[in-house]
Amino acid sequence: MKNTIPKSILIVGGGTAGWMAANILLHAWHAHEVQITLIESADIGIIGVGEGSTPALRKFFSYLKVAEKEWMPACNATYKAGIQFSGWAAENAYKNYFHPFYSQHDIEHSQYFFHNVNLRRHGVDCVTKPDEYFLTAELARQHKDPAPLDRKLTNQIEYGYHFDSVLLGKFLRDRAKSFGLIHIVGNVSDVLLTHDGAIASVNTTDNKLNADFYIDCTGFAGLLINKALQEPIRTFKENLFNDSAVTIATDSDEKILPSLTLSTALPHGWAWKIPLTNRFGNGYVYSSDFISSDQAEIELRNHLGDKAKDKSARHLKMRVGRVENHWKANCLAVGLSQGFIEPLEATALAIVQSTLENFVDRFDHPITPNTIREFNSYINSLIDGIRDYIVTHYFLNTRNDTDYWKACREQVKLPDALQELLDAWDSGGDFMQTLFSQKREKIYKPESWFCILAGMGRFSTLNDQSSKRNLAAPEKIALLNNRIFSEKMFIDHKEYLNRLSQP
Ligand SMILES: Cc1cc2nc3c(=O)[nH]c(=O)nc-3n(C[C@H](O)[C@H](O)[C@H](O)COP(=O)(O)OP(=O)(O)OC[C@H]3O[C@@H](n4cnc5c(N)ncnc54)[C@H](O)[C@@H]3O)c2cc1C
Repeated sequence: MKNTIPKSILIVGGGTAGWMAANILLHAWHAHEVQITLIESADIGIIGVGEGSTPALRKFFSYLKVAEKEWMPACNATYKAGIQFSGWAAENAYKNYFHPFYSQHDIEHSQYFFHNVNLRRHGVDCVTKPDEYFLTAELARQHKDPAPLDRKLTNQIEYGYHFDSVLLGKFLRDRAKSFGLIHIVGNVSDVLLTHDGAIASVNTTDNKLNADFYIDCTGFAGLLINKALQEPIRTFKENLFNDSAVTIATDSDEKILPSLTLSTALPHGWAWKIPLTNRFGNGYVYSSDFISSDQAEIELRNHLGDKAKDKSARHLKMRVGRVENHWKANCLAVGLSQGFIEPLEATALAIVQSTLENFVDRFDHPITPNTIREFNSYINSLIDGIRDYIVTHYFLNTRNDTDYWKACREQVKLPDALQELLDAWDSGGDFMQTLFSQKREKIYKPESWFCILAGMGRFSTLNDQSSKRNLAAPEKIALLNNRIFSEKMFIDHKEYLNRLSQP
């Protein structure tokens, strides 16, 4: 491995991961005259279903210096204030909760939230529903956009997006080509290795492509990392049972444009509803050990009702797990080729971004075998940390309607770190300290952990929190402050997007 930035890079695959890789590498290394080529197949399509993001995508576009006005209308994109979880618990008081993105405005209110949740952990009756404390929950409730009118305040609020992933790919492709990327359309037929196990060339029927470095963005096919370099996938099957999805797009609602992702638990998994400017993306993520694809489609159609009539369905398989070595020899796996958890918290593109940003940063210093070891270990701990947060949703469910939901509680293997966190929570111990000692507070913040544990009702005694008349002083203050702030600084989501799309 050379100690310098590679002079030529071949990206294999033109899904969202491939085009994000192209843009980040072009931006990071434009001064180094790196030649970047991307090859994609016209016959093998992209997965084309990643439609929700975390706030990381905002950093991606600001890194590229691309304004929302430039990319959002081109991708039918909308704003995302957070995720509403519905039906994951059996008890009325915990049927819904909101997992917000955070703002500086929440700092004081989240202290009330932590305080009350800790009281409830010790049996004191008080309001612990996350929705009452966080600004973005209030904005989502009012169908407002989470981007403030005063753009000077914009960095004070975290938000994500919903978008059409095919259009996003096109936008990023055109941008990369305008910055000098070489684009080839062709089917890769084989990958040749050097005698010491690095990639020597990537071949199509009429082309032999060589580069200093290769980026595997071939999706679940894992053409370079899995097939050529023989890096296996470590499955998460014992932690997460879902391996399939079915999707159906429906028409958009004329009046209301929600600013949240809706995640509704169904009998054998969960369904997403993602608002775009021109349609809703819907999908049902389920386990094929419990239902067939036909039954899954029926359950999704029942859930969507008349809106899904005459709309076609698309069935997908998911390979859930990750590689151990994302960077191996002269190859980096990015996107579905490096692994996938599942779409519940819409984290896949954030992992793509972290992988690429971290990779680029490593070239600030000479590359040694230790650099690669540290890089792989960092990406693994990031993915495992996200996996544990996702597993928590399933493990904390209190539904009894199907064997699927019971199995999610009773047959799941909890990763050790998650078991330790839950033990700290259940015993009334110092949860924050355990989280910080695991160094995982940056993957999911303490607020997120408190939201899921309180939102799902992980308390030894349950109370009815459905009535706002029971609100005590701190919750009233939080709610009132959020309402006032929301009135002054934010407008209707649809109206905001209309303004954004004006020339
Ligand atoms: C059900 C589901 C829901 C999801 N929801 C979300 C979400 O809400 N948010 C989120 O962030 N992520 C989500 N994801 C993940 C997201 O879709 C992917 O991470 C993202 O699209 C990147 O995919 P990719 O580019 O790695 O692979 P793909 O889109 O599969 O692209 C693979 C590329 O490799 C090329 N290729 C393959 N074989 C060859 C060959 N032999 N020769 C030449 N080219 C080849 C293909 O042509 C294609 O261009 C979801 C995934 C699934 C399955």
